[in-house]
Amino acid sequence: MTTSLNTQNEFIARHIGPRQADEAAMLQALGFDSLEALSASVIPESIKGTSVLDMGEGQGEAEALAAIKAIAGKNQLFKTYIGQGYYNCHTPAPILRNLLENPAWYTAYTPYQPEISQGRLESLLNYQTLISDLTGLPISNSSLLDEATAAAEAMTFCKRLSKNKGSHRFFASSHCHPQTLDVLRTRAEPLGITVVVEDERELGDVSDYFGALLQYPATNGDLFDYRELVERFHGVNALVAVAADLLALTLLAAPGEFGADVAIGSAQRFGVPLGFGGPHAAYFATRDAYKRDMPGRLVGMSVDRFGKPALRLAMQTREQHIRREKATSNICTAQVLLANIASMYAVYHGPVGLKQIAQRTHQLTAILAQGLVAQGVAVEQEYFFDTLTLATGSATAELHAKAHAAGINLRVVDDLRLGLSLDETSRQADVEALWALFGGVQPSFASLAATVQSRLPAALLRQSALLTHPVFNRYHSETELMRYLRKLADKDLALDRTMIPLGSCTMKLNAASEMIPITWPEFGSLHPFAPAEQSQGYKQLTDELEAMLCAATGYDAVSLQPNAGSQGEYAGLLAIRAYHQSRGDERRDICLIPSSAHGTNPATAHMAGMRVVVTACDTRGNVDIDDLRAKALEHREHLAALMITYPSTHGVFEEGIREICAIVHDNGGQVYIDGANMNAMVGLCAPGKFGGDVSHLNLHKTFCIPHGGGGPGVGPIGVKSHLAPFLPGHGQMDRKQGAVCAAPYGSASILPITWMYIRMMGGAGLKRASQLAILNANYISRRLEEHYPVLYSGSNGLVAHECILDLRPLKETSGISVDDVAKRLIDFGFHAPTMSFPVAGTLMIEPTESESKEELDRFINAMIQIREEIRAVEAGTLDKDDNPLKNAPHTAAELVGEWAHAYSREQAVYPLASLVESKYWPPVGRVDNVFGDRNLVCACPSIEAYQES
Ligand SMILES: *Cc1c(COP(=O)(O)O)cnc(C)c1O
Repeated sequence: MTTSLNTQNEFIARHIGPRQADEAAMLQALGFDSLEALSASVIPESIKGTSVLDMGEGQGEAEALAAIKAIAGKNQLFKTYIGQGYYNCHTPAPILRNLLENPAWYTAYTPYQPEISQGRLESLLNYQTLISDLTGLPISNSSLLDEATAAAEAMTFCKRLSKNKGSHRFFASSHCHPQTLDVLRTRAEPLGITVVVEDERELGDVSDYFGALLQYPATNGDLFDYRELVERFHGVNALVAVAADLLALTLLAAPGEFGADVAIGSAQRFGVPLGFGGPHAAYFATRDAYKRDMPGRLVGMSVDRFGKPALRLAMQTREQHIRREKATSNICTAQVLLANIASMYAVYHGPVGLKQIAQRTHQLTAILAQGLVAQGVAVEQEYFFDTLTLATGSATAELHAKAHAAGINLRVVDDLRLGLSLDETSRQADVEALWALFGGVQPSFASLAATVQSRLPAALLRQSALLTHPVFNRYHSETELMRYLRKLADKDLALDRTMIPLGSCTMKLNAASEMIPITWPEFGSLHPFAPAEQSQGYKQLTDELEAMLCAATGYDAVSLQPNAGSQGEYAGLLAIRAYHQSRGDERRDICLIPSSAHGTNPATAHMAGMRVVVTACDTRGNVDIDDLRAKALEHREHLAALMITYPSTHGVFEEGIREICAIVHDNGGQVYIDGANMNAMVGLCAPGKFGGDVSHLNLHKTFCIPHGGGGPGVGPIGVKSHLAPFLPGHGQMDRKQGAVCAAPYGSASILPITWMYIRMMGGAGLKRASQLAILNANYISRRLEEHYPVLYSGSNGLVAHECILDLRPLKETSGISVDDVAKRLIDFGFHAPTMSFPVAGTLMIEPTESESKEELDRFINAMIQIREEIRAVEAGTLDKDDNPLKNAPHTAAELVGEWAHAYSREQAVYPLASLVESKYWPPVGRVDNVFGDRNLVCACPSIEAYQES
C-alpha cells in the first residue's frame, strides 16, 4: 500500500501551468538542470536567501474551503440599518451568477485593447449613461474607488478648475458622511488645503473658498434645497461638488439641475453586496466644459476602420504614464466589475423598477417615521428619503442594548441620538420590529400605510425623465438579461479564453476555490461599521492575511486598507512623510523616481506633497547608480524617499539594489519599493529584508484577485516596524487618523481570495510559483530572441518574470509598429502584451506561472508567424500598406464582403491551421483613437445618432 491516506495537495499543480515533463524540457532549453539552479542564476547574490517562507504546507482545496467556512461562520449577520453610505440590497440572481461569478467578466483586463473589449466597454458606457442621467451632468467616468476617495478627487478637481486661484480653503458640509470627511482631511493636508467642516446653514462669508462639498440627502437623513447656496459659491468662483445617493436621485431633482459642477457618490446599493465596506464602484460626473480634467477612465464612442461605431477608453487612457506628476490623479485600477454590476442592475430593473424600489423604500421610511412619532419618539427630519435621526436622549444607551438583543444594528450618532436607514430589502415586518424596540402602543402598519404622505419636499421632486435609452428598457426578463450578458461577454477576450501576457500586470489564474467564498453572505452581507463583535470572522481573516503578507515580504506590519496599488503607494508615502515629521525632519520632500517608473509613482508623489526628481537609467535598463548617488547627495537635506520598482519595470533583478537602498538611507531618505512585480520574488527574496522600508503589493496581480476588467484591486502596504505607527487609521479602528479609504479594510470582501491562495499554496507552493513564473518568462524570451531582440536582461543573459521585446528596429525596416503586432495578435486569438511601457515601441510579456507550455508555445508560434509576415513586408512580397498586420484585426463582416486585399482571406483569419478549430472573431475592426478624442461621446448615443453613423 503506497497510497497516502492523508489528502494530497492537488492545488499547487493545478495553479501552475507546466507539467513536470514540460518543466524539464523548458529548463533544458535554457541550459539548466533544475529550477533551483535557474533561480540561483537569476536572483542576485546580495539578496539571495532573504526570503524564508515560514508558513507551513499548503492545504488542499476542500480543506482550505472548510477552514475559511469556519472563519466566515464567526461573522454574525444582524438586521442592519446603519446606512451612512452603505445599504443592504439584492444582487439580482442572474447578475450574481452570470456576471459576478462568471470568469468571462471577472478575469478580463482593463480595456486598453478596445477591439477585444467591446462587451465590457458597452456595459461601462451604460454605467456612464446611468450616472449621467441620474446626476444631470453630461460627463461621467467609468468608476472611482469609493465615495470618500471620489470626494477627495472632487476636492482637487475644484482646486485645479476654480478661478478663485488664491484660495486654499475647501468647504465640506458637516452633513457629509464622517468617513468622507476623514479621507478629505488626509488628502488635503499634504497639499496645503484646509478643509473647513461646518453646517452650511450657518455659513457666513464664502469668498475665501475654492470649492465645496455637500451631501444629498444629508448623512443624518435631511433633504436640503441647495440651490441658493450653490449660487453663493458660484458668485465667488468656487465650484460645488455634491455627494449624492443614486437611489434617491431616481425621485429627486438632479445635482446638475440645481447647479452642481460635480456629483460623486457610491453605486453600491445598485446590486453590489456590502462586503464589509468594499469593493464598490464610486462615480464621478461633471459638466462638459471640465471633461478633460476628469480623474479616472472614461469610455467614449469612436469608429473602427470601416467607419462603424466602436467603443474605446477616451482621452486620459494611461494618462499617468504621459503626464507623470502632472496627472489629474493617480487612479489606475478602478472598480470596473462593480460598475458593471451596478449598470446591469439598472438595465435589469429599468427606470420603472428603480423608481419602484426607491418609492417603496421611501414609503416604508415615511410609515416608520409616522409610527415613531405616534410612539412619542422625536424624529428630527421633516423631509427625508430613507434615513432618520432620532433624538432618543437619555434612553439612547438602553435602546441600543434592546436593539442589540433583538439582533438589530442601529447607527450610533452620539450619546443622545440614534440613526437608521431603510433600503431595498426592508419590509413591513422590519418596520414593525423597529417600532417594537420603542415600546408603548404599537402603531398599525395598515392604517398608517393607507394614509402616509410623501416626505420628499415638493420643490426637490425630480421632473426630468430617466433612463429613456433602449438599453434600460429592453432586458427586463431573465432570459433577455442572461442573453445580453452572454452576448457582451462573447465579444471580449478574458483569461477564460487565452493567456493575457501583460507585463507588470500579472494576469495569473484566479482559481474557482479562491473565488467561491466572496459571495457567501457571511462575507458579503456585513456592514463595514457593524459592531466589532459581529465581525470576528473578518478579524481573524485580516489578522491571518496580514501575517501571511508579512512573511511573504519580510516586513513587520501590513495595512490592508488601500483599495488599489495607487492607494497603497499613497498610503506608503504618507507613512514616510509622517515618519520624517515625527523626527522633526519637516523639510524632507524630495522623492527620487527612476525614469522607468510606472506612471502612478510620480502622480502619487505629487499627491503626497513631494517634489519629484527623476533619476536616469543606464543602457541595460538598470538604475544609473552614479546619477542616483549624485542626486541623493545634492538633495540630502531634503531627501524624503526613493520610489523604485523591483525587479525593475525592465524585467531585471538589478544587482545593485542593496547599494541603491544604502545610498538613500545614508542620505536620510526612506526606500519605497513598488511591489507590483512581487510575483518574481515571493519565496525567493524579500523587499523588507534587502533594504525596503515600505512596499505596496497588488493583490490583484501577484495574489490572485481577478482584474475584473479594470478593478477591483487591493493594494496593501507592508512596512518595517519604524513606519508601523504611521499606517492608515480609520474612525472605526483603534488609530482614528489618516484614513485613505472609506472603509477600514478597504475592499475587505475580496480578501478571502488571497487568503485561500496563500493557504493552498503554502510556503513551498508560493516559492515554486515564483520559480515557474521566472521559468516561463525566460522560456518565451529564449525562444523569441532570434525573432525579436530582447531589450534587457541581467548579466547572466536571463530575465526575471517578464521580458521586453524591442520592435523599434522592425519599424525602421518594415514600417510595422507595435500597434500592428498587437492588433495582429487578435487575429491569432491573443490579448496583446503591454504596449510601449516602460519603453516606447516595445512589447512587455509576462506569462505568469499559470500558463502551460502548450499555451506558451501557441503564443510563441503566433509571434513567430507574425515575424514571418513582417519579413515578407521587409522583402516586398507583402505590400507595405495593404498587409495583414496593418489591416488587423480582421472581422467576419470584412471576410464576407468584397475582398480587395493582395493577401488571401485564409491568411487574414487563419494564419495558423490550428485556428480553424477555435477562432475568436473580433466584433469591430481597428478602432480609430484620434476620431474618438476629437468627437467625444461618452454616454449611450440616441438611437437616431446610432443609425445615422
Ligand atoms: C499596476 C501597477 C501599479 C498601480 O497599481 P493599481 O492597482 O493599478 O493602482 C503601480 N506600479 C506598478 C509597477 C504597476 O505595475
